[in-house]
Amino acid sequence: MDFELSDEERAFQEAVRRFGDRVLRPAEAKIDEGGRIPPEVLRAMADLGLLAMPVPSEYGGMGASAVLTELAAEEVGRGDLSMATAVFFLLEAGWGSTLARHGTQELRRSFLPSVCRGEAFLGIATTEPGGGSDLARMRTQARRTPDGFELTGEKTFVSGTTEAGEMGGGHLTLARDAGGQGFHFLYVPTRSDGLTTQRFENMGRMGISTGSLSYDHVRVPASNLLGEAGHGFQLALGGFQVARTFVSAACIGAAERALEIGMAHLRTREAFGQPLGRFEGIQFELADLFAQVEAVKWQCRRAAWLLDRYPLTGDETHRSEVNRAVASVKLTAPPIAFETVKRVMMWFGAAGYTKEVGLERGLRGVMSYLVGAEGGLNIMRIILGRELLGKEFLPYP
Ligand SMILES: Cc1cc2nc3c(=O)[nH]c(=O)nc-3n(C[C@H](O)[C@H](O)[C@H](O)COP(=O)(O)OP(=O)(O)OC[C@H]3O[C@@H](n4cnc5c(N)ncnc54)[C@H](O)[C@@H]3O)c2cc1C
Repeated sequence: MDFELSDEERAFQEAVRRFGDRVLRPAEAKIDEGGRIPPEVLRAMADLGLLAMPVPSEYGGMGASAVLTELAAEEVGRGDLSMATAVFFLLEAGWGSTLARHGTQELRRSFLPSVCRGEAFLGIATTEPGGGSDLARMRTQARRTPDGFELTGEKTFVSGTTEAGEMGGGHLTLARDAGGQGFHFLYVPTRSDGLTTQRFENMGRMGISTGSLSYDHVRVPASNLLGEAGHGFQLALGGFQVARTFVSAACIGAAERALEIGMAHLRTREAFGQPLGRFEGIQFELADLFAQVEAVKWQCRRAAWLLDRYPLTGDETHRSEVNRAVASVKLTAPPIAFETVKRVMMWFGAAGYTKEVGLERGLRGVMSYLVGAEGGLNIMRIILGRELLGKEFLPYP
């Protein structure tokens, strides 16, 4: 067992931390208040190779391992506490790698390089107005046509609907086969005829949009199909494993940044004639938070390591090991990050409640992962229950 990062991993981690300090932190307020990630920030991310970094170099990425991508996700989460940049980062990384693995050669060649350059957006569309947790009951349908598919239905609470419309790009979209032959996983460009979007007003991660996508007989060419027709469900679930690991990493980065901000404050702010950090009531809280963040960080790095070692096609034992590791970290990282940001806000007293200190951005951003983004916490518990007790204990048919 070796916990040491390689020289290459450490150098890249430091480079992304510098990018976070020099580019993301100064832009944090602008990202949160302006409703978008400024183009110069996306350009800087692309220059560093951060966009869709696991995509192989022949399609414009850097062919990064899941471990290297996890390290970068931590740093992006640390750099922009609002989580908007982290969401952009992890969508491109998680779903870019899925497209690189399962997309047709034509789609990979024509689309992925522009995603890696930050000139097109790639997201995921599975959630529907009827619910996001129980994907098997989705209603959006894809009817087969002589040259591809025709989509009818609606997706909702989808990240990046505005970005995909403005920059170009679209979403990997899961749809039920109209003839009852399973599910198709299709890349659907947002600028397609018959597709309309609507943006929602969220409470956090304001720099990236969330909205709905309505499909009115949207035609999708056969070359936009991922994997085999009718077998898309498993591909989408595999992509979620990757995305959930990077989500957790971003939460860990945000928690570490909150602790750094908090520790600087504990050293300097005085109450009752002493720095706050001298009071055991606060020191113990710091110690508990640090220990929890540290534990979940290594849990997350192990999940990434497992993804590298046992790619999602692995045998049953390893499949279960990956499922348990990813569900565990997605279950623990967001609540620990939320609690850390909240506690540190309280060390600031009234100032913690202001926009000036900026921790509230983290609270609003991390909250998205508690309510459901990339799968709700109870869904992680259901996955763990299934893996620990067996499929026969699933409460649903
Ligand atoms: C900011 C944000 C961005 C998002 N971006 C995307 C995106 O890009 N693409 C996309 O497709 N979706 C996206 N989502 C949607 C997300 O995937 C869903 O919110 C999630 O899957 C839960 O679905 P739901 O909101 O419909 O809640 P529901 O499925 O209605 O569930 C409601 C609550 O009940 C819980 N629950 C459900 N079933 C059970 C059960 N059997 N036992 C116990 N508890 C249960 C859930 O965990 C949840 O807390 C985003 C969500 C947010 C908040």
